[in-house]
Amino acid sequence: MALLQISEPGQTTAPHQHKLAIGIDLGTTNSLAAAVQSGKIRVLTNENNEAILPSVVHCGEGKLTVGIDACPYAKIDPTNTIISVKRFMGLSYKEVKDFKNCPYDLIENGNNVQFRTAMGDLSAVEISSAILSALKQRAEKTLGGELVGAVITVPAYFNDAQRQSTKDAATLAGLNVLRLLNEPTAAAVAYGLDSGEEGIHAIYDLGGGTFDISILSFQKGIFKVLSTGGDSTLGGDDFDQLIIDDCLKTLKLGELTPMQMQKIKQFARSAKETLSTDDFAEFNCIEAPYRIGKEKFENLSKTLIKRTLLLAKRALRDAQVEPSEVKDIVMVGGSTRMPLVRKMVSELFNKPVLCSINPDEVVAKGAGIQANLLAGNKSQNEVLLLDILPLSLGLETMGGLVEKLVHRNTTIPITRAQEFTTFKDGQTAMSLHILQGERELVEDCRSLGKFELQGILPMVAGNARILVEFQVDADGLLSVSASEKTSGVKVNVSIKPTYGLSDSEMEKMLKDSVLFAKDDIKTRQCRETQLEASRTIEAIDSALAKDKQMLSKEMVDDIMQVRSELLTVAKSADEKAIKAKIEKLEAVSAKFVQMRMDAAIAKTMQGHNIKEFEE
Ligand code: AMP
Repeated sequence: MALLQISEPGQTTAPHQHKLAIGIDLGTTNSLAAAVQSGKIRVLTNENNEAILPSVVHCGEGKLTVGIDACPYAKIDPTNTIISVKRFMGLSYKEVKDFKNCPYDLIENGNNVQFRTAMGDLSAVEISSAILSALKQRAEKTLGGELVGAVITVPAYFNDAQRQSTKDAATLAGLNVLRLLNEPTAAAVAYGLDSGEEGIHAIYDLGGGTFDISILSFQKGIFKVLSTGGDSTLGGDDFDQLIIDDCLKTLKLGELTPMQMQKIKQFARSAKETLSTDDFAEFNCIEAPYRIGKEKFENLSKTLIKRTLLLAKRALRDAQVEPSEVKDIVMVGGSTRMPLVRKMVSELFNKPVLCSINPDEVVAKGAGIQANLLAGNKSQNEVLLLDILPLSLGLETMGGLVEKLVHRNTTIPITRAQEFTTFKDGQTAMSLHILQGERELVEDCRSLGKFELQGILPMVAGNARILVEFQVDADGLLSVSASEKTSGVKVNVSIKPTYGLSDSEMEKMLKDSVLFAKDDIKTRQCRETQLEASRTIEAIDSALAKDKQMLSKEMVDDIMQVRSELLTVAKSADEKAIKAKIEKLEAVSAKFVQMRMDAAIAKTMQGHNIKEFEE
């Protein structure tokens, strides 16, 4: 029997359409994807029920292999097997040519670096896109449909070029990037810290080869990265090495062959993982049994963990935060499964750490939750605004001044519009110069681009209404449009505001804005007075051109005399003198202004009776 469907009051009867979107943790060694399914966040697995996709790409002759199947090639065909492409993203040849333990044949291609492989010369973006493509295919198979988009995570310290490369890789893989999300922010989202109280959180990420610490603040629905720190050469591998060294010492073993070394490395890693749950671990090392207890391992580990704590303290100092001010500590990365790591970190902050979510999956899950929101599967007011604009955006106005349309620290996405007008009578085009920065003058800000609005109908200066709209999307991409109503003309441009700015450059721009604030205001005032002078001269010139015949020769001469006095000082830095001359010109032409006004009124009144104008 068919059941009648009844919708809840206020709800539509249309079936709810769940849009498919995924979160991707694009890691150095491993990558993962996660999605919200039936209201729950889940990592996506392959046909063997494996969630982790090793970030390994084998570029063989005519064949690209990604993930677990590509791993064996790392040993037999290292030059063609790229195992940590993330380290190369957005970097130039000069920046990567001295990378240690890099078996690849790197070549310079303009500003870019390429890997010379059996498949041809490939960029980091292309290799990364192969990993993303594999995850996209997995997702579409598991979720049973086409994806509307993906949220991809990047380290908080990634600069613009690295972020842009990640985005390019996703686009190349046919993914619509809903947003790039900082890895620590994703971890915080996975624990639902975005729906909790405002406060400061620490994200402690200890993986296989790297350690990252990020201090985030959560305020008014926004996560802001206060500081980051870490060590790109400190991770789980160093803990394995402790066991290897102890084993070699205990068994008094001399030189080992590379094959034996490889074996012992595997044993040590698995022994270390065992010790996270058991009291001892043992294995056979080159025919001899080796055994290590938890206590001994933990004693050996202390120094390494202390190093991470020192880096965490430094990050706290950079963020000007005391350990006691940190509300939550989120544990990320496989190595945070070690109980001593959890214990020592929680001692530093004097509170328990958050570790209930699988530390390998937490970043992907946070990204998946965010992807679900951004795809529009929840109501708009639940969508988080996670990012803020680092530097203000504005337009050049007359006199080389900057009018800020969107101020720094504004949450994005955002749209702001402002009306501007023409400076000269009959002006038919307007040049729009877009700038980024905190300073008052154009020359002290960063130019992002110029464009022109043409086809404005000739009007009296100040009569045209030009609406300029700045739209900044969730990734910080800016589109600017300008339109003039009466003339019906419009132009649009897209710009990438922070592209190419390093953190230190950005910091300098901010510091300078504070340092020069007083001088800037003075200069701005002076420029504004100079502008007023030009405007007054323009107005008098225009009036004389039209109605000179109303005046006697003496009156014209008097006005021209003061006009020329004003012109002499108009460009000087002597604000007082400019103001005085403006006043003098206004005074000397007051009669003329009055005469023009009377004439205009008389013209309007022609053929009418005064009574018609009375109420
Ligand atoms: P990740 O880079 O986050 O995938 O972390 C990988 C590191 O986590 C490797 O060094 C692993 O040995 C380590 N790891 C994974 N599981 C455990 C465990 N149970 N105990 C200690 N370390 C682990």
